[in-house]
Amino acid sequence: MRRLLWSNHSFFNMELNEEQQERYFIVVRRSKKGLSRGTIGRGDAETAAGDLVGMVYGGGGSARSSGTVKKQDTYPLTRHQAQLLLFVSPASRRLELLCNVQLFNAICDLAQDDLVVIKHKKDFQPCLVKNLVQIGKKDKPGVLQMLGFELELVDTEHDILSKKTVPLPFFSAADIVQVAPSNLNSREPLRNGIDLGLRRKAVSRINSMPVFKSRNAKKESILINNNGSDSIQAMSHYSLEVGSMAEVLSLNGLTVYGVIRWIGIPEGKKNCWAGLELDNEATTCSDGTFNTKRYFTCTVNKALFVPLNNCKPDRRFVNEIPEPLEPPSVTLLEDLNEDVPPVPEQDVLSHLVGRMRGIQGHFNSCYLDATLFSLFTSSITFNRMFNRSADSEEGISHILRRDIVNRLRRSGFVPAESVMKFRKQLGCKSFATEEKDPEEFITLLLKHVLHIEPLLKIRSHGDLPQDAYTHQIIVEKSQVRAVPSVQQLLEMSFVSSDLKFEEIPSCLIVQMPRFGKKFKMFPKIIPSTELDITDILHCSPRECFLCGHLAEYECVQCLMDHKLQPGKIKQYCSTCNTQIHTHPFRKEHTPHKLTVPDHFPEDAPLQRHQMELFAVLCINTSHYVSFVKYGPNPRSWVFFDSMADRCGDDNNGYNVPVVRSCPEVGDFLSQSEEGMSTADVSQCSELVRRLLCDSYMCLYQRTE
Ligand SMILES: [Zn+2]
Ligand SMILES: [Zn+2]
Repeated sequence: MRRLLWSNHSFFNMELNEEQQERYFIVVRRSKKGLSRGTIGRGDAETAAGDLVGMVYGGGGSARSSGTVKKQDTYPLTRHQAQLLLFVSPASRRLELLCNVQLFNAICDLAQDDLVVIKHKKDFQPCLVKNLVQIGKKDKPGVLQMLGFELELVDTEHDILSKKTVPLPFFSAADIVQVAPSNLNSREPLRNGIDLGLRRKAVSRINSMPVFKSRNAKKESILINNNGSDSIQAMSHYSLEVGSMAEVLSLNGLTVYGVIRWIGIPEGKKNCWAGLELDNEATTCSDGTFNTKRYFTCTVNKALFVPLNNCKPDRRFVNEIPEPLEPPSVTLLEDLNEDVPPVPEQDVLSHLVGRMRGIQGHFNSCYLDATLFSLFTSSITFNRMFNRSADSEEGISHILRRDIVNRLRRSGFVPAESVMKFRKQLGCKSFATEEKDPEEFITLLLKHVLHIEPLLKIRSHGDLPQDAYTHQIIVEKSQVRAVPSVQQLLEMSFVSSDLKFEEIPSCLIVQMPRFGKKFKMFPKIIPSTELDITDILHCSPRECFLCGHLAEYECVQCLMDHKLQPGKIKQYCSTCNTQIHTHPFRKEHTPHKLTVPDHFPEDAPLQRHQMELFAVLCINTSHYVSFVKYGPNPRSWVFFDSMADRCGDDNNGYNVPVVRSCPEVGDFLSQSEEGMSTADVSQCSELVRRLLCDSYMCLYQRTE
């Protein structure tokens, strides 16, 4: 039943010939004939109506039934891919693997002694690939033999040596969750059947490398065409395929971005075209039809058809991926139960950006996905608090740490089941079923799950400080500019309610002034990348607004004085306080005396206290997404949407979470505040617009 292929040199040639003749496919949409999604088959002919005639394989790789299937309900596979996927069960998991383009490509190219990480008995385990194994009845007509992997556990601990005596089962492609390919370009993929002998290699994680930067990009890559007449196209430089993120220069000179949903030769054309689902709507775009024929289905006004040559890999990802200068170190062999630090800046693009990255959304979970991604991806300060928080061997904090935080940082992807497991333990049932407010979740998370002390201690009217986890900005519209910054909003919110921070918080989570999911007070808010809280700190030395000496008074009524930089907090030394309030317009003012530290030398230099923005949670039509600043570089921004795309229908499908690099957001935020407030959002990129118009919560961390 099982046959080792390792030394079968003739296999490769045989396979190539067959690949040219046979067209394998996987059913991606439930067809009228009742073929379920994930079913694998072989098309032997094509009808005039564009249906594939062939057979589908059942368990064990035997042909189960023959008939026709609509070509648009299928996705083409090579024989090798079909054999690997056939061994994956249940069938729905095949599509999940196929959607993870980078990982699946890497699995198809595995060579002997490559390092992989598998999920085995609910644990993650690094393994060496030993062999590719053909499973199924041999040489029987109509049988497609399945392919599995023979793996060997890597002894990360010595006691595993003893476990090695227990033979491992054959693993399917879907058991592999991570691939660490070799740096050696000379090695051959496994299916070539050439024994390469043992080799020690430096490895790195690449399961999240965008497809066009993978090793395939160096070779001539083969595009399998969805259309029968000209099924294989060679293309140098890039390997763009269904699922790749691409950009196209449109006729009006604008670059548009989208995901390739279809590749083939449309009716009436001679060369290869791509059908893209764009990030943004455009009036000239369709919902997946081209010249009245449907090639795929998406939202109205988002489908663009262009010659494939006009598509390039999405540059926003390509440019940002640094070439490794030295062989990456071995990171796979780390203890899989050990805490993983936030993803370092230089690793984010290769490790976290792409489709099926981040936290997978499911059933109204976006409030939670976006919040967790914001808090745990990269903030060093928040992580320090997290590490200090109580952990137990089991229970909800353990699920959070092991199945969500460590997993996100280690593998770049958290499946929806892990999040649901966590949600169900949050106490109130509604957290597992309904869309909740992120602030409610944050308080629950920090207070009851992690037992972290309240982040904020705020004094109101000089009374004793009150504890809080987040701060809701409360202002009147007239008190600030039409396009306010978070800096102005926070200061105004504090000054108008006479609030002061008792101490500098480690993390400051600020809620924008908006009510419920619908009403927002300001159409645009500038998320200040640096937040200066010096002037809203209790008992902290401050500078006189006019002369720079130690301030002793603060005047709320002077705040909006149009002659004195309206909106800026006004604090004065006693001399300036007297002078400014001798003016007839200001005679009625009632300046407060400030609390100044005792014995503070009057000429000592005053220190300013700044916090830095590390994430912005946004909401649009009840859907939460987040922006995360993942390092000191001003352009180090990613955008995360846990439900960016969906595979399958409402009942049987799943969400595809996407993390996108968005350096343009950093560029935008590097402008002057004036430039940002007057920017024409219709000319801005989609993500800049969302950051500016949809912000719900800004997260700051202390840096000093
Ligand atoms: Zn002064
Ligand atoms: Zn005044």
